[in-house]
Amino acid sequence: MPIATVNPATGETLKTFPELGPEETERRLAAAAAAFRTHRTTSFAERARLLGEAADLLDDDRDDIARTMTTEMGKPLEAARAEAAKCAKAMRWYARNAEALLADEVAPPAEAKDAGAAHARVHYRPLGVILAVMPWNFPLWQVVRFAAPALMAGNVGLLKHASNVPQTALYLEDLFLRAGFPEGCFQTLLIGSGAVEAVLRDERVAAATLTGSEPAGRAVAAVAGDEIKKTVLELGGSDPYVVMPSADLARAVRTAVTARVQNNGQSCIAAKRFIVHTDVYDAFAERFTALMEGLTVGDPMADSTDVGPLATERGRADLEELVDDALHQGATALCGGRRPAGLERGWYYEPTVLAGITPAMRIHREETFGPVAGLYRVDDLDEAVALANDSPFGLSSNVWTRDEAEQQRFVRDMEAGGVYFNGMTASHPALPFGGVKRSGYGRELSGHGIREFCNATTVWYG
Ligand code: NAP
Repeated sequence: MPIATVNPATGETLKTFPELGPEETERRLAAAAAAFRTHRTTSFAERARLLGEAADLLDDDRDDIARTMTTEMGKPLEAARAEAAKCAKAMRWYARNAEALLADEVAPPAEAKDAGAAHARVHYRPLGVILAVMPWNFPLWQVVRFAAPALMAGNVGLLKHASNVPQTALYLEDLFLRAGFPEGCFQTLLIGSGAVEAVLRDERVAAATLTGSEPAGRAVAAVAGDEIKKTVLELGGSDPYVVMPSADLARAVRTAVTARVQNNGQSCIAAKRFIVHTDVYDAFAERFTALMEGLTVGDPMADSTDVGPLATERGRADLEELVDDALHQGATALCGGRRPAGLERGWYYEPTVLAGITPAMRIHREETFGPVAGLYRVDDLDEAVALANDSPFGLSSNVWTRDEAEQQRFVRDMEAGGVYFNGMTASHPALPFGGVKRSGYGRELSGHGIREFCNATTVWYG
């Protein structure tokens, strides 16, 4: 895949970038290692000052960087602005909270004594240079949710961003430099996926985090495993959205639409499988289909647009294959199931609702990365839980029920990194984010996220 900005709304290649050669990559690795030696010794107050400065600059740049993101990957402009604002908020959150999150954990005196110590504690030290391999779907947010805690912990970052968002990738390096972070603290490597292995094997790189697809995660984790380097993997998802009879149906339907089509349907935590109790299934299906059908598909730069194009031509082809497979095997398209008329130049796809999905269809087990919802009818809670868990993925989950006993069942039994009741999954700096099963391992955000790339050092005083 060439490193290039290709506008998904038109298919036009706007700018291509040469890949970094081995010499420039080496120079950047050396700069990262040198920056770590200094950055690790700086105070939390100094790091917080720099990160706060980056947040302020990002607020100032919001409109420009939003347009860049929309041009590179097609998300509606308003959503791109909101993403930039969320990134600034997360930076400030970590600037405020990192020191407390990484405070020494002092062993209770009796425990220290039992361990033969006068006193003992756990001290969190940074690991070093962290390689971040990131996807295009939230091209700022995915990076910032890694970079903000990493830099606050005293680590330094090397970003290998997705090949279709090079301008956003370069903006990020420039942002941290302008904020005052010393050279080498945060660098963008314009390299293809084939060059990742050599960087990861370099002894100056301590660990890696990858957000992306299952094959990419497997490839990076295999190399990291071979090198005995820590990884965090945030991979795909096919989150269930369960609606039980006690749900506020009007809200559940409205939220379902947002949960499915946010970011043009290309979100790992988008609700993808809608599992609806038979008592409310018909009403849900009818209203949900009407709202999905009524969405405006079009130019992502236009304020009136709800759903823009898919980010890549390949992504749309993959989605079409999944829908066509389901339709050929007997699923019914309640709406959509095709490209919209009049938008032939870009990589658009109509918001689609499919009913009658069976386990034999690919869509039952694979991720739909686009505005396509699968509807399932279930007779009771046991069936809902079993179907929700019948997926290789386990990222997050959404459940609509006001019954507390039912809520406790879902908390106990959902195979996922999150259970969101009467709402939709959304990430927040204070809440851990990540999955189980093929959705990956490790957590981002909150105290869990910042400690992933720390050396929890036992300090024992005799
Ligand atoms: P992708 O194709 O896996 O790409 C993600 C990143 O990995 C890109 O930088 C890509 O580089 C790189 N990459 C791909 N193959 C690689 C390999 N063999 N070795 C090293 N690096 C490799 O994913 P995507 O299409 O950009 O993003 C969509 C996927 O990401 C979906 O499955 C989605 O669910 C998942 N996702 C997960 C989360 C989460 O938090 N769990 C969040 C967002 C997205 P190139 O661009 O150069 O190929």
